[in-house]
Amino acid sequence: MGAIVAIVGRPNVGKSTFFNRLIQRREAIVDAVSGVTRDRHYGKSDWNGKEFSLIDTGGYVVGSDDIFEKEIDKQVELAIDEADAIIFMVDVESGVTGMDEDVAKLLRRVDKPIFLAINKVDNAQREADAVEFYALGLGDYFTLSSINGSGTGELLDALVKEL
Ligand code: GDP
Ligand code: MG
Repeated sequence: MGAIVAIVGRPNVGKSTFFNRLIQRREAIVDAVSGVTRDRHYGKSDWNGKEFSLIDTGGYVVGSDDIFEKEIDKQVELAIDEADAIIFMVDVESGVTGMDEDVAKLLRRVDKPIFLAINKVDNAQREADAVEFYALGLGDYFTLSSINGSGTGELLDALVKEL
């Protein structure tokens, strides 16, 4: 089996859009942990001849916003455990949010390759807006548009070099 790459981030940033663009074949879906539905989509992908499994985390949770945030943290911790590399996706439209800061805090302690992927950079103005994500303390980032595909190649080039 090849390397495992997890995509983490708060809801609505475009994780599933990115995942669906990359995967060729769906693997497993849902498991249930302590009454909470956690859906994790696995798919196979490859880039530059390197095959890897991709995990789309997130899904949905029934409950309060508070539970929702805890679930995101749990997904991030799972990803930290099982993935060889992590794509942390954020959304340039909304800018840096508190939930992004929480995830970044968890990831800053991890000794695995982390790729900060700023999504929804559909045009040049948004490229300029992306600089605010340096505030997450994760260093350099990749900008991309999961909808039109721009920037995804640069991110994948860097990713597979680390696998
Ligand atoms: P997830 O909750 O992180 O998995 O996010 P989704 O993939 O479900 O996307 C959330 C919303 O953002 C959807 O309406 C997508 O069409 C939209 N979206 C995803 N990627 C892009 C992008 O690159 N540009 C723009 N403008 N919208 C996007
Ligand atoms: Mg999703």
